[in-house]
Amino acid sequence: MSKGTVLIVGAGHAGFQVAASLRQHGYAERICLINDEAHLPYQRPPLSKAYLKGEGRPDSLMFRPDKFYRDQNIELISDRAAFIDRSAQRLLLASGSFLDYAHLVLATGARNRLLDLPNANLGDVRYLRILDESEALRQRIHTARHVVVIGAGFIGLEFAATARAKGLEVDVVELATRVMARAVTAEISDYFEERHRAAGIRIHLGVQATSIENDGDKVAGVSLSDGRHIPADLVVVGVGVLPNVELAAEAGLPVASGIIVNEQLLTSDPNISAIGDCALFASPRFGGSLRLESVQNATDHGRCVAARLTGDAKAYDGLPWFWSDQGDDKLQIAGLTTGYDQVVVRGDLKARTFSAFCYKAGQLVGIESVNRAADHVFGRKLFGMNRSVAPKQVADPSFDLKSALA
Ligand code: FAD
Repeated sequence: MSKGTVLIVGAGHAGFQVAASLRQHGYAERICLINDEAHLPYQRPPLSKAYLKGEGRPDSLMFRPDKFYRDQNIELISDRAAFIDRSAQRLLLASGSFLDYAHLVLATGARNRLLDLPNANLGDVRYLRILDESEALRQRIHTARHVVVIGAGFIGLEFAATARAKGLEVDVVELATRVMARAVTAEISDYFEERHRAAGIRIHLGVQATSIENDGDKVAGVSLSDGRHIPADLVVVGVGVLPNVELAAEAGLPVASGIIVNEQLLTSDPNISAIGDCALFASPRFGGSLRLESVQNATDHGRCVAARLTGDAKAYDGLPWFWSDQGDDKLQIAGLTTGYDQVVVRGDLKARTFSAFCYKAGQLVGIESVNRAADHVFGRKLFGMNRSVAPKQVADPSFDLKSALA
């Protein structure tokens, strides 16, 4: 078991989980959670889902009320970590004070990739990562008439579906030739494209936004690389995120497309771990290095580090899973659907309930399910058992998937 103060930088899903799990495992020493957002630590997924639609108040997003932090003796420090002095094992805060640590956990997450276009700094060019941005959009959605969403990833499409349901004219502009192209199979992209179009969303693929048009300080529209101009009074940008690696890099820790950590989520400094969206971790399960952006990854990383600090050091072996709610459809992903060479579809597309089973060299690597929770649950169990199921069996509707778990 480690001794001494554990400092955690970032109070998102990953940071909160380390603190909570440390106490669950009986860690009795000082724990400080450094939070640079002006809210109690909260969940992000509802920001582009239920919360954006108007459901719930900010309190409903919080992981725990403030009493929890007092009861658990977790010091929630409203500040920003500014510099790590590794030789002194000391963290300097933006307010000028400093904290000594025995172990430091970097859970700094990621930030929006900003649009680098003329007029991108207009007030109604919005992003959606933090509660304040969701809150502002939740209000703006009632007064806006026409929104252009730049980027057809999960967040862009979740926003687009909600905006359309609220009666806005919605155009989605995407450089790739299909929606969610980096994250899902063509089968899933095609399904969601059709569903969003059926809801009245116009989707423009294979084109780039080249400038935001303005009328004084107001958004007037978006110009596209094919010469078209789409009128709009609101632009929402969802073009991905950048991991927050600067604190680590300035302290001389190795970074690449994330803060580099080993299979136990330790940086090159044995007193510093990095977890969640900011961490590029060595994965024995998948081989090579991975950086994932999901609640599962962030919370399981948090649990893994807390276990190590309380005497149960293990390689991180979490099983990836993810979800996205778009309109009336729920997409759930189990495993890693990258690098596959075969896709088998099971279910009924017309009935809006089906799954895409992804295979790599004959081994099942991931399952993308639309409104088919049973397949998702099956996948998580199967991967947890390190098993596969043959493509031929998956393709056979009479084959009972559960028998593969027996
Ligand atoms: P974050 O949640 O980004 O938290 C990091 C925190 O660290 C932030 O509060 C940041 O301000 C703070 N910080 C950074 N630098 C410093 C510093 N120097 N000092 C102090 N604090 C600092 N995932 C899913 O699995 N399913 C979903 O449906 C889903 N929907 C999403 C919807 C939205 C709108 C967004 C934005 C994300 C969604 N995600 C979803 C992704 C998921 O929320 C992230 O993967 C998860 O939040 C990562 O947790 P984290 O703790 O690593 O980082």
